[in-house]
Order: sequence, then structure tokens, then C-alpha cells
Amino acid sequence: MKIERIEVFPVRLPMKAVLTLPRGPSRTLDEGKRVALVKITDADGNVGWGESGPSRRWSAETLESCLTSIREYLAPALIRHDVFDIAGAHAKMNTELATGLDPGQPIAKCAIDVALHDLVCRRLGIPLQAWLGAKRLDRVKLARLVSAATPEDAARITKQGLAEGYEGFKVKVGHHKAIDAELVKAVKEAAPDSYVWPDANQAYSLEEAMRMAKTFEKLGVTLFEQPVPMTDFYGMRKLLSATSMTIALDEAAMGIPLVVELIRREAVEGLAIKVSKVGGIHYARQMCDLALNAGLKLIGSGLQDAPIGFAASVHLFAAYGIAEPVDLNGPQFIAEDYLKTPFPVERQAALVPTGPGLGIEIDETKITRYAL
Ligand SMILES: [Mg+2]
Repeated sequence: MKIERIEVFPVRLPMKAVLTLPRGPSRTLDEGKRVALVKITDADGNVGWGESGPSRRWSAETLESCLTSIREYLAPALIRHDVFDIAGAHAKMNTELATGLDPGQPIAKCAIDVALHDLVCRRLGIPLQAWLGAKRLDRVKLARLVSAATPEDAARITKQGLAEGYEGFKVKVGHHKAIDAELVKAVKEAAPDSYVWPDANQAYSLEEAMRMAKTFEKLGVTLFEQPVPMTDFYGMRKLLSATSMTIALDEAAMGIPLVVELIRREAVEGLAIKVSKVGGIHYARQMCDLALNAGLKLIGSGLQDAPIGFAASVHLFAAYGIAEPVDLNGPQFIAEDYLKTPFPVERQAALVPTGPGLGIEIDETKITRYAL
């Protein structure tokens, strides 16, 4: 069955809060959450939805780059392509926009990938998790993101999160380096029975990371996300041998060839999986399989995903049995979205949809309302 049409709809979703990364705010309230929605229709009229939701201070893509890449290069190459040949679709996309150390504009390619997965699963009448061939979980716990400027603020956010049902807290560090230890301590003390881990988004030098690792370890932290720059393979390996904590890589784990190289160099023990950063479900599942077979720890993450990216991630994380709370924090920041009915979440656990495809319904009138 062939792809008949690929449409792209840029939208701006209103936001209720701003996340600050070591490089600055991930996006301002004025910018909103900007997403390129992709609708693929096959020759029988079946439809699938995907989205690109870039975070420009996290990786190099922007809404504008995603729009032109999809419209001018990716979509034209895929018209008349067999919807069931998702690997072949990626091969064509990678011919149009080359891969490098990452999959080559992965966030643009992710929109096509997720739309194809949604479409084929809808055709087959099965949820995406069933297509992935594993039902290890039927719900995925969400973590509360703690991005605070003072320990008091961190403790307040954590206590509020506990009251809301969160069992995991990811603490953004590297932005206020002098108080990072105090921030993590405040969260650990406020939620001693919760899963707490810091994410530095590459902000530390090796020397700083070694010092912080010792501090975090004493606080009872068991996992430290991307302490050093993604290119510092030496630093990642040295940190691993210096601490009993798992050093999980996020920015360094965008492409499978690079992860293979890190495994060969004994420089990785854990991976943060994001569907969007690796170019969609096709590569994300390969990365999860690689991690499981290599004995690496998997943690679930995202890029403040809107509901399509959120749903795709929930299916994947459930299929791969990621039992610790995951950093799918879109609902903490996005005020309004494009769904007909809200994504089901119970006590901060996302329920894996059982309907066909992603298992969510898009309200196209809302796409018009939020159109850019
Ligand atoms: Mg991260």
C-alpha cells in the first residue's frame, strides 16, 4: 500500500511554564511549544500522524528547519513509497538528508517515522505497543522535572510533586553550579523514597563532574545523566570507573553507530532514550534492543513532547519495560494541545493506549486554532 499524501501543519501550543537549561530557556512563553504536525494518507485513505517538536537549545533543529526539510526533501521522496517499508522510508530520508554523528535532522525525520507507524498500526487495528512485539508494562510512570534556582524552591516543587503522585524527580543541574549539590540534596530529603537523578545537559568539565559524582553518590543518587560534553568520551569512561553510579548518556546517544563506539570503548552504562532525537520509533527500538543486549540501563526521556511524541514514547517505554519514572514532561509545560480527549494519566502514570496506532485522536479544528 502506497503513501498518497504527506501534509505538514505548523502549530504553536500555549505554554504554562518555562524550562531553563544551562544554555538558557528551552523556549519562552512567547514562542510557545512549536510543533510541525505531519499527516500521512495512504492510497486507501488510511491516516497516520507524527510530529516534530524541536528544542533549539538542546539540539540544532528548529521548527523552521523541520518544516523545510519535511516539505522540500523528505515528503517528496516518499510519495508512492510502501507504507509497510519503514526501514526503506528511512533509507530514502537518509539519502535526501545525510546522516552523521546523529541520524541527520532526526527530529524532522521522526515526524514521518511516527506517522508511518501510526498509519500501519491503524491499518492493522493494533496499538503501537503490539507492533513493537512486547507488552512489558501497561502504564508508564512520569517523573517531575525539578528546575529550581534555590534549594528551597527545589524542596517546594518536590513536595508539591509528591502530593500530586509523582514517584520520580529529575533535577536539572549545571545552571547554578555553586548550589547544584544543595539542589539535589533538597530533592532527596523532600522525597527520600523516590527515584531522583540529576541531569547536567553536558554542563560540567571532567573535574567538576568527578567532584559532583562523589557528592551525589553520598546523597544516595544512583544515576547521573550526561555530566560532560557529548564529545568527551575520555571523561565519560573516567567517570564510570570513578563512581558506582550509572552514568547515563543523553546528548551523546543520538545515533546507533556512536553508541556502538561508546560500548566498544567501555564508556557507557546507561542510555536516555528519546524517540525524537534518534529519528523516530524505528531507530529508538533498535537502540533499546542494543542497550538491553549490551546490559545497559535504559531511562525514558523526551523533549517536552506534545501528545503525539508523548504517546509514541509511552508505547515504546512500555514495550521495553522502563519501570522507573520517565522524563516525559510535556504536560508540565504545555497548557493546551490538539487532542479530542486528554491523554489518560492516573496518579502521574500514563496509561498505554489500547486503541489502534498511537491510540489518540487528533482534533483538526484545534490544529486550525493553533496554526502558525
Ligand atoms: Mg537529558
